[in-house]
Amino acid sequence: MQTHNLGYPRIGSRRELKKACEQYWSGKIALSDLHTAGESIRKDNWILQKDAGIDLIPSNDFSYYDQVLDMSLTVGAIPERYHEVILQKGGNELDLYFAMARGYQQNGLDITAMEMTKWFDTNYHYIVPEFTKNQEFKLFSTKVIKEFSEAKELGITTKPVLIGPVSYLLLGKEKEEGFERIDLIKNLLPVYLEILKKLDALHIEFVQFDEPFLAMDLTEKEQKAFSYVYAEIKKAFPSLKIILANYFDCFGENLEMALSLPVHTLHLDLVRCASQLDDILDLGKLKANVNLSLGVVDGRNIWKNDFKHSLSLIKKAADKIGNDRVWIAPSCSLIHSPCDLDLEENTASLPAEVKQWLAFAKQKIAEVVTLKKLVENDKDLEVLEAFSLNVVAIASRKSSTLIHNLQVKDRLKAIVKSDDQRKSGFSIRQSKQKVALNLPHFPTTTIGSFPQTTEVRSWRARFKKGDLTQEAYEKLLEDETKDSILWQEEIGMDVLVHGEFERNDMVEYFGEQLAGFAFTKFGWVQSYGSRCVKPPIIYGDVQRPQPMTVRWSAFAQSLTDKPVKGMLTGPVTILQWSFVRNDQPRSQTCTQIALAIRDEVVDLEKAGIGVIQIDEPAIREGLPLRKADWKAYLEWAVRAFRISASGVKDETQIHTHMCYSEFNDIIQNIADMDADVITIECSRSQMELLDAFAEFNYPNEIGPGVYDIHSPRVPSKAEMIALMEKAKAVIPAANLWVNPDCGLKTRHWEETKKALIEMVSAAKKLREAV
Ligand code: GLN
Ligand code: ZN
Repeated sequence: MQTHNLGYPRIGSRRELKKACEQYWSGKIALSDLHTAGESIRKDNWILQKDAGIDLIPSNDFSYYDQVLDMSLTVGAIPERYHEVILQKGGNELDLYFAMARGYQQNGLDITAMEMTKWFDTNYHYIVPEFTKNQEFKLFSTKVIKEFSEAKELGITTKPVLIGPVSYLLLGKEKEEGFERIDLIKNLLPVYLEILKKLDALHIEFVQFDEPFLAMDLTEKEQKAFSYVYAEIKKAFPSLKIILANYFDCFGENLEMALSLPVHTLHLDLVRCASQLDDILDLGKLKANVNLSLGVVDGRNIWKNDFKHSLSLIKKAADKIGNDRVWIAPSCSLIHSPCDLDLEENTASLPAEVKQWLAFAKQKIAEVVTLKKLVENDKDLEVLEAFSLNVVAIASRKSSTLIHNLQVKDRLKAIVKSDDQRKSGFSIRQSKQKVALNLPHFPTTTIGSFPQTTEVRSWRARFKKGDLTQEAYEKLLEDETKDSILWQEEIGMDVLVHGEFERNDMVEYFGEQLAGFAFTKFGWVQSYGSRCVKPPIIYGDVQRPQPMTVRWSAFAQSLTDKPVKGMLTGPVTILQWSFVRNDQPRSQTCTQIALAIRDEVVDLEKAGIGVIQIDEPAIREGLPLRKADWKAYLEWAVRAFRISASGVKDETQIHTHMCYSEFNDIIQNIADMDADVITIECSRSQMELLDAFAEFNYPNEIGPGVYDIHSPRVPSKAEMIALMEKAKAVIPAANLWVNPDCGLKTRHWEETKKALIEMVSAAKKLREAV
């Protein structure tokens, strides 16, 4: 029996990589310093896994930004607009890499970044590969080879991890008409073979191909591509041991095809789909020389593994195919888990009772190893002790009074149909809001947050440490809010925001004020590039003991006659961006949160806030991977949003905001949310995302983002007008808003000010034509 790991968090347990990257980008450290930081994280991770007793440790799971972008660089899928950067930067691969990820504005060049989108149904974002017709690939970056050698020098023979060729293509996007990206498989495969040849020369034994598209609905052509590439790889490298990893859902319709592939080990995510083990064992189609890797330890959530349950799965498989054909692993890469629970020794916001139910990446690695010991050596006292401790922890969670709140459960039962309906339909609301708000055509607004400068963050840190009194802290925030309000007035913004300076994070801020949530200090997870999030842990029934945002919104509104938009995070997003309890359906937890947000919306209205935004950027990412499961999810998710938004009068304008979303296939559900205004991320796709709304004749108002906030690049007025002209061509002008793609908290004031001044002036220009 082997233990292995699919991938380890690469941000460093104290976010060392984030810090190093950002210092490098701002010119504070040299490239060699960045390389040193990367090297040290890789080394720590390898050694940690080795010391824990993992048999097969991954390499190339490290990334400076994103593993899909790594793959694009590896196979030379570098869009033409970056070729100039190659010339300017000579052989500096990392600068090219970061230019692709973040855009490039230097030495007379002004190149936009590549698109970014969500990695399956997670909150990790990857850089979308761009493909053209008949595209050729060539081995460009040898990162995977270098990292294998690097580990080897430390005495660790790793298993290189690559995104499999089929999933790599499917993750990308066609940048011109007339072909399907899967057709490029024949051009792509030779590069994979070349990589394997180089690795083979270093005597690798195992290679892991991640093919998470095996958990998606595939066309016949895509299925055939799988059979084709793995047969070709087998032909070229008959003795190479291929681990084929599928995760996040069942193999479903792809199961028979997957079982027919000539691989050494097939990895199954038994957390997301426990039933597939029976399917495989009963089907009788598992080849006698193929091993099963059982993903029993949840790579995406923070709950301690239930050893009893995992052992039953492992034993079931072992009884049928023998111990030596069964591998034990986390369900997926651990990049979706925080690093180390041991760092939370003194975390006041994480009660000991809750902490005993948790396991982070380092602890999950230990769980994998313990599970193997429990199977192979169930007489060992230490192992037995670990088992009984686990049984106690799991049982205590089931019966804890910390978790259950009768009042919340009763309120949930008492929800009636009218609770998720606004008083009137949209057109009646729209005319009432016109009178109440008196906004110009093409009203301008922003998505909520303004730059969270080092200063602002240092106030919070000092306040939390006790170095600043609450009074002094709030005074600083008030001044910052005031500056932002006055500046927005001065540049002529129409609907103002207070700036969210008091918030650490759009979910954590709310979770901290809601019952049923706990918080870590170091539980960071990579979201995109150097951006990390620290998801709250929802362990119990959710309730809002008192108003959460009214104080700041009311303060900001008191400074101006212009409307200030109240700013809330929606129930689906709070759910989606938290670690969620796994002892009741997600829909139930979501509805509990919806009721809490509803109370806040009503209180904001009472405090004189006439425009309230309920952010739901995560609606789309919550979609199950398979279409057949969408309907049920969308029903409860849309209902939760409506419950949160429907407590107010017609005159109160409800906004929602969504980023990284495609809307084509869920446009009916987006319309069903019935927000008065929706702002969406649109600029990186050149307004393409708006087509779904146009085709649907979406009735409510829309603000398609006119500039990309993920990059420091300042857009020109002309650029934004051009984008709005595109929008005007498909959406009635009277329904259009002008705003950036998303919140501005990650930006600096310098570029923010320049960009927003341009944006307001673009809107004014547009008004001239009305
Ligand atoms: N109001 C949030 C902000 O501006 C929205 C962020 C988001 O959608 N990701 O930061
Ligand atoms: Zn956003």
